[in-house]
Amino acid sequence: MYLILGGGLAGVTAARTLRSLEAVGEIVVLEAETSPYYLRPGLIEVLAGRRTLAEITPFPRVWFEHRRITYRSGATAVALRPERHEVELASGETLAYDRVLLACGAEAARLELPGADLEGVFTLRSAADVERIRTRAGEVSGSAVVGGGWLGIEVARALRDHGLSVALLERGPWILCRQLDQGGAAILAGVLASQGIEVQVGVAPAAIRGKREAEEVVLADGNRIAAGLVVVAAGIRSRVGLAQAAGLTTKQGVVVDDHLATSAPDVFAAGDVAEWAGRVYGIVAAAREQGEAAARNMLAPGSVRYPGTTPSNKLKVAGLDLVCVGDTQPQGGPRRELRHADPAGGRYVKFVLGTEGELHGAILLGTPELTDPVEELARAGVPAEDDLHRLLSSVA
Ligand SMILES: Cc1cc2nc3c(=O)[nH]c(=O)nc-3n(C[C@H](O)[C@H](O)[C@H](O)COP(=O)(O)OP(=O)(O)OC[C@H]3O[C@@H](n4cnc5c(N)ncnc54)[C@H](O)[C@@H]3O)c2cc1C
Repeated sequence: MYLILGGGLAGVTAARTLRSLEAVGEIVVLEAETSPYYLRPGLIEVLAGRRTLAEITPFPRVWFEHRRITYRSGATAVALRPERHEVELASGETLAYDRVLLACGAEAARLELPGADLEGVFTLRSAADVERIRTRAGEVSGSAVVGGGWLGIEVARALRDHGLSVALLERGPWILCRQLDQGGAAILAGVLASQGIEVQVGVAPAAIRGKREAEEVVLADGNRIAAGLVVVAAGIRSRVGLAQAAGLTTKQGVVVDDHLATSAPDVFAAGDVAEWAGRVYGIVAAAREQGEAAARNMLAPGSVRYPGTTPSNKLKVAGLDLVCVGDTQPQGGPRRELRHADPAGGRYVKFVLGTEGELHGAILLGTPELTDPVEELARAGVPAEDDLHRLLSSVA
């Protein structure tokens, strides 16, 4: 029997791949959540009230039945015993497997500070979290979002859609620091301000105060923000507990080799729970690609090598297109930059040039029309300064 622990994207992809290649074997997916399988990125839309959970549920039960995949919702694995090839469920039931896939994903990182466990303080990872946040949003008027990455920004916008005041708090010097430079982030912060979101950078929450429920966030500099609802969007932690207790090698995630095999025989891992080449990706594309490669290796060990996932360089943030090409924030070396900043129009373009005027990197915010020509110039690697000036004046 092929047993899959976790019925998210990695687990379901593995189950479908297994079934497409193996007609007869038994495939069982154990999923802790009680809701049917849904597309996790769609939760932002559900939070904003633009879609329902049903609308982000791609496969009805019958889809699994037709493929003879047993998808058990509300079934939590509590122990993995590789030496006995068995898994124990919270109900006390044990299941024997031939090969097992750990696809139990990650949970949202929590804040370690006074008041972090008050009512009204949430993270966003599951459909149940969305329900809790939506309920609270109907009861309060002020909110704060901790973490100015992509998820934090989108949560802030969703809370604005509920009519709440929103402060977006980022510890670093600017928001979306993995994708944007300071100039681009300032333009994005302006766009968010025009949408009613107050962005504060270089600030760290020191405590959340309230009697039983959150009432305000106290920052390290003593400033206070009235917030009956606080959402923490500060990264993820792979769920390594099961694997750790079973004696598997874990670091940030469950360590896997190029075949998605863990350190224990017949135990594989994929998706947000897995660490490959020192990296937990935490993105859809990696969960899908790893889920598929793991399934192939579960069927025929060592048959498929996972080459790594290239994260997409395109993002939709605050309703704007953001494209990052190549090296956008070079450290050292003789580099020149060309820029165009249009705060009112929410547009920002930066080109990073090499010594010959060749394009090394680009940030394009709010200018999707430049994506194709810029990607082409970056690929070509030839002197391109005149072309780049022309592109800049086309958006100026
Ligand atoms: C709100 C939100 C928006 C996102 N948007 C994007 C986006 O736009 N683009 C992008 O690339 N990525 C996005 N991500 C990240 C993306 O959703 C994840 O990378 C992806 O879902 C990982 O898939 P997974 O199957 O590894 O883990 P998960 O989706 O977390 O699934 C793991 C499943 O395992 C279950 N489980 C855990 N422990 C057990 C157990 N012991 N027994 C049984 N079941 C268990 C969990 O309940 C869960 O359903 C977003 C994430 C969130 C939360």
